[in-house]
Amino acid sequence: MSEKNARFPLTLSSVVQTKKREEKRAETYQRPLASLQTAAKNAAASHIVQKTFPVTSKHIQPGMTSEIQKTYALKTPSVTLERRSTSLVSDAVRRAMVERVAHLGVKNEKVLTALQVVPRHLFLDPALASQAYINASLPIGFHQTISQPYIVARMIEVLLGKKEKLNRVLEIGTGCGYQAAVLSQVADSVYSIERILPLHEMAKKYLRPLRIANIRMHYGDGMLGLPDVAPFDGIILAAAGLNVPRALLQQMAVGGRLVAPVGDEQQELQLIERVSTSEWTTTVLEKCHFVPLRPGTT
Ligand code: SAH
Repeated sequence: MSEKNARFPLTLSSVVQTKKREEKRAETYQRPLASLQTAAKNAAASHIVQKTFPVTSKHIQPGMTSEIQKTYALKTPSVTLERRSTSLVSDAVRRAMVERVAHLGVKNEKVLTALQVVPRHLFLDPALASQAYINASLPIGFHQTISQPYIVARMIEVLLGKKEKLNRVLEIGTGCGYQAAVLSQVADSVYSIERILPLHEMAKKYLRPLRIANIRMHYGDGMLGLPDVAPFDGIILAAAGLNVPRALLQQMAVGGRLVAPVGDEQQELQLIERVSTSEWTTTVLEKCHFVPLRPGTT
């Protein structure tokens, strides 16, 4: 099974070996962290009932630097301390995941930084959170999956092209909201549509504590796009149709890009560029595997 095609469930040995390799790479891979990181920590900490009682040596986790130990001992109730140390661990494991994605060929620094900033484990059921930083798609309920980190990064890299940042982006298939959160780091505004109501609600719940101001979530059929908001300079589909819906092609800005998985059993990632009001070009990028794009809502 190639890494690009890794899917749930994974064997225990593949998980353990992957983790070891990832930890090694993490030693050489240090990326700057942006502000969402703090928001995520606040979000994680906000679930905790704050109780103040003395911090003892048993609360200090192995691997903490003395400076961190001092800070926690001075300011942090012990319950929060345990959660914070979890968050430090997730930073490191996430860094290893980003390194792996870079190794698979994603080069855009902005995209890699966005991947480092977004806490993928907060978009999963707690029972699956320990697998959040493995390069695999994972179930999110309703027969849908959270996309693989590599493919999220690759699609956003292609969407950006040579641009530093995108203006208005449309995502079809919010799912749990993870990709929308990554997109929010490289676009001024992100619009995301989901057709399954409980998933739309779940994404709202996961995104709320992260307080990302530039994401708008819609419940509806993404195949119709959002004509009232169009044109978009980027459109990204997280589900595969036999072809790209005409409405979405029409809602692209001239000079805009659309990235989509296309196909049924055999799928390929396509980049569509709108070169004029009446002309689009298609580039086939690589094989991929996505859940199907379906019409209507449920
Ligand atoms: N963006 C997600 C991936 C979600 S999986 C992530 O961050 O990992 C793809 C999602 O597309 C599913 O939730 C599915 O319900 C949704 N989907 C399929 N067809 C759709 C349509 N026509 N409109 C909106 N969402 C659709």
